[in-house]
Amino acid sequence: MNQIKCIGILTSGGDAPAMNAAIRAVTRTAIYYGFEVRGIMRGYNGLILDEIIEMKTQTVSNIIQQGGTILKTARSNEFKTPEGRKIAYDNMRKAGIDALVVIGGDGSLSGARVFAAEYDIPIVGLPGTIDNDLYGTDTTIGYDTALNTITWAVDRLRDTASSHERLFFVEVMGRNAGFLALNGAIATGSEAAIIPEIATEVDQLAELIQNGFRKSKNSSIVLVAESEITGGAMGMAERVKKEFPQYDTRVTILGHIQRGGSPTASDRILASRMGEAAINALIEGQRNVMIGIQNDALVYVPFTKAIRDDKPINRDLLKTIKILSI
Ligand code: ADP
Repeated sequence: MNQIKCIGILTSGGDAPAMNAAIRAVTRTAIYYGFEVRGIMRGYNGLILDEIIEMKTQTVSNIIQQGGTILKTARSNEFKTPEGRKIAYDNMRKAGIDALVVIGGDGSLSGARVFAAEYDIPIVGLPGTIDNDLYGTDTTIGYDTALNTITWAVDRLRDTASSHERLFFVEVMGRNAGFLALNGAIATGSEAAIIPEIATEVDQLAELIQNGFRKSKNSSIVLVAESEITGGAMGMAERVKKEFPQYDTRVTILGHIQRGGSPTASDRILASRMGEAAINALIEGQRNVMIGIQNDALVYVPFTKAIRDDKPINRDLLKTIKILSI
């Protein structure tokens, strides 16, 4: 029944800690079950440019603890065109690859969905993004490590913030998803989180100021998710300057340090379980699904659902932050 002999694996889009742990798990599980494995370098670009390498068990030795991705990652505009995908498909067949495991965020899985539909290829996705913004999985590979990095960084900012009695806006990643800001705020005892999910419903900044958040405190840290709607941390600081000039504000954009570093144990375990599950899914004849985790159980989430732009965020946590920061 099952015609798959050789499985290709690639990492695409923004890198995330524990992508290597996922590559290792996919490679070793596939070899364990008798498949051949090929690594595709630099995401979909590697398919188009024919950068395909053989993966053996030793290829993935000693990488579980490393950040980044040994397969490299990239964004590919050419893959967004039918012509680009035709070249990718031809190279894939030439290399004898019958199925793909794609590790990446919503963009990468959108690409996988289009490619699978066009060429009838079995593709299984793994949610590899620090943003945690894929629907159908409680967490994504890299999210926990990024949250810990944010906690580490904000703890240091707190020292200087309290010495100077300032209002710090700290921008965290999350491309229109407030998971890192919200949970990062709880983990660091921040005074507030400004998240895009509710940006059109309430004026989060005005609410914060009206609540007199700074009255009894000598420092205030607000985590702001990057967002075009709110303007991120810079947008907040500009507004304060205009509307509430009595406050001395500072902006810190954590940027790419959030993507780096050795993955946490949680992320390594998640990536290892999901990597094994990806191969099991292909063996079972699953296709066009992302591996997710819900209440500690592995699940298959159709690509169309996973990339929906509306993963619900737990709004109760906003109240938690408010209560705990009085
Ligand atoms: P992420 O996976 O981190 O969300 P991107 O959004 O940059 O990253 O997507 C990664 C790559 O996936 C893109 O550079 C492109 O090659 C591919 N991709 C994204 N969306 C599509 C699409 N609609 N059709 C084809 N390929 C896509």
